[in-house]
Amino acid sequence: MIQFENVSKQYPDGTHALRQVNLNINKGELFVMIGPSGCGKTTLLKMINRLIERTDGIVRINERPIDEYNIHELRWNIGYVLQQIALFPHMTIAENIAVVPELRKWKSEQIKERVHTLLDMVGLKGTTYSDRKPAELSGGQQQRIGVLRALAADPEIVLMDEPFSALDPMSREKLQDDILDIQRQMKKTIVFVTHDIQEAMKLGDRICIMKDGQVLQVGTPEELIQQPADEFVRDFVGSPDPDISPQPVTSLFNLESIMSPLAPGHVPKSAKTAVPASITLPELVDIMSSHDHLLVEREHRIIGVVSRADLIRYWAEQLQERGEGHE
Ligand code: ADP
Repeated sequence: MIQFENVSKQYPDGTHALRQVNLNINKGELFVMIGPSGCGKTTLLKMINRLIERTDGIVRINERPIDEYNIHELRWNIGYVLQQIALFPHMTIAENIAVVPELRKWKSEQIKERVHTLLDMVGLKGTTYSDRKPAELSGGQQQRIGVLRALAADPEIVLMDEPFSALDPMSREKLQDDILDIQRQMKKTIVFVTHDIQEAMKLGDRICIMKDGQVLQVGTPEELIQQPADEFVRDFVGSPDPDISPQPVTSLFNLESIMSPLAPGHVPKSAKTAVPASITLPELVDIMSSHDHLLVEREHRIIGVVSRADLIRYWAEQLQERGEGHE
């Protein structure tokens, strides 16, 4: 849906921010871009809504080069969330969310309904929240409203530039959960920039790892863990190197501690393939790449079920405990 074809950017001072980038972002996916500071993530993101113009190559949205769109039409179809969103201080939360639909002259009934739907999606419908002013909200709550505002006019694409990086860990986790809920319900095409690998693993359908203005690898969290393209990617996702280091993540792995136990005889229909409880982590990652859920078997009895989300969560927690999040 969003395609980059040999896209390069050289800033007037000579900095090569992007070099020959080729990327294909699919409709309805949450696409995460990650890499060290200065690798070109923000430059790439801002090219999508033309806040930054490229110096070479083509960017297409729905097959059409972005220069062919009227710039207002293009930006209206793209929601944008920044690290520090700015809400209008004199307006209520509901009015803040309604800004873009108002600009686009939606009918007032339609706007009201939309605001309700959005608040409902994050569990805030019917609360007094919508009548408050931004100053009465915490930073995390304001950021949450920023996300809803970006979605208000029902854009096809939402760009998020480190939207949660200024928040405390709890608010951050809450907003990440919001995004996953919203994404399940709305299936937007979201391009999400972060420098936090745990956040990337938790949110991304696919993750793009960048370095020095180039794309090193694009893949699902499992693919990056399982088949890192090079040393840099391997280090970045924190995958243990079997040839060099001892493997704490791998050797301490115990499937029973991450699965959901099942009552005897109760087997969910969603899972068909069973794996032994003694399976190793690399083996599980391998099988998980083609299954959403797996049954867990011990001594010929099904004792639990494990989902791909369980595995990713486990991996992210391990990285956190080992202090290997890339801040
Ligand atoms: P990231 O978002 O990954 O931190 P950026 O896209 O912001 O990276 O920056 C990529 C590179 O381009 C960096 O070397 C940065 O210093 C440089 N850069 C960004 N904006 C400008 C600018 N306006 N003029 C010159 N260089 C810039």
